[in-house]
Amino acid sequence: MNPTILLNASVLDPRAGTLLPDRSVVIRDGSIEEVTDTRVRAKDAVTIDLRGRTLMPGLIDSHVHATQASADFAELRSWSPYYSAARVSQVLRGMLLRGFTTVRDMGGADHGVARAVEEGLFDGPRVLFGGPIIAPTGGHGLTRICDGETELRRAIREQMALGAHHVKLTLSGGIISTMRVDSLGYSEQEIRAAVDEASLARRYVAGHAYTAEAVNRALRCGVRTIEHGNLIDESSVELFRQHEAFYVPTLATYFALTQQGAGHALSDESRRKLHDVIDAGLHALELADRAGLEIGYGTDLHGALHDRQLTEFSLRAQVQKPADILRAATVTGAEIAGMTGHIGEIVPGAFADLLVVDGNPLEDIALLTEPERRLLLIMRNGAVVKNIL
Ligand code: ZN
Ligand code: ZN
Repeated sequence: MNPTILLNASVLDPRAGTLLPDRSVVIRDGSIEEVTDTRVRAKDAVTIDLRGRTLMPGLIDSHVHATQASADFAELRSWSPYYSAARVSQVLRGMLLRGFTTVRDMGGADHGVARAVEEGLFDGPRVLFGGPIIAPTGGHGLTRICDGETELRRAIREQMALGAHHVKLTLSGGIISTMRVDSLGYSEQEIRAAVDEASLARRYVAGHAYTAEAVNRALRCGVRTIEHGNLIDESSVELFRQHEAFYVPTLATYFALTQQGAGHALSDESRRKLHDVIDAGLHALELADRAGLEIGYGTDLHGALHDRQLTEFSLRAQVQKPADILRAATVTGAEIAGMTGHIGEIVPGAFADLLVVDGNPLEDIALLTEPERRLLLIMRNGAVVKNIL
């Protein structure tokens, strides 16, 4: 395939939080071959002049549910698999057009979804899937119920055999759940068994947990990523550091749920839980940010709310600097995925997952919340998905 050369790019370096002006980026066979400050020419190349616009790596959402195309679990279960696939393809396309080129699916997506994207049957971000969420009897959401070490190990072995990138465990109640937010799902012995089993497959456990108590015991047991974690405190911060774990807040989902009117029937109990976790969530993010923890970008949206995927940027901007939020959605996301150097930055050898932005998101992060207007070019694996340059 002929190479593509992007000329006059201001390349965003998410590690340093800076723009490198006047760069040429050479793309060949879906990957970035070269990034240089000298003008590159190749006679067989397709050349695109960015005229100084920002070139940034494609975004990474570390907490999505791509297959939850409806927020109504009973409705989801009633769909034919063919109809589900059609709806999922729509959800994935929406994500890609918002600038997400990799997503970590935290419950629902499987090898079929990932394969459909890789084979180009669906336009969408690369999907790193975990399979069904694993929960104890009484646990929340669309889950696979497992009690005891044996059932946990069996489930994890089965999911790993199907190519799962991680396994997600329910370690406390949730918002749309019959379990109290402060309840603790699994015993420490069960969590340790799951962590051990995942590590045998060279994979890891992600834990759904809200309270400091649930988060802290998860971290002590070796859970690598904490999902939500709205109610963490100083004691959690220390444990995150000790265990080199990642924090993946998902503020977008709570705000979307509070704004939503009809169509998403929440019980009064769920609505009350929601308000409790929103204020706490921003405070927890601020705490984690000041402590310099490794923070991923997560959204946790379902159904029609998927279109709020970029609101996480504006929400975080209340307590974080643009460069820190961008790092979460790029290089830290790559680290969580175990794909450092392949995604989340514009370096030789990385996949050509690229966005051309009208403006500088390091100065104004809100630019990213207007993808129709501001994302002038979207490229995934070197293929142009959108070009309005
Ligand atoms: Zn969850
Ligand atoms: Zn989730």
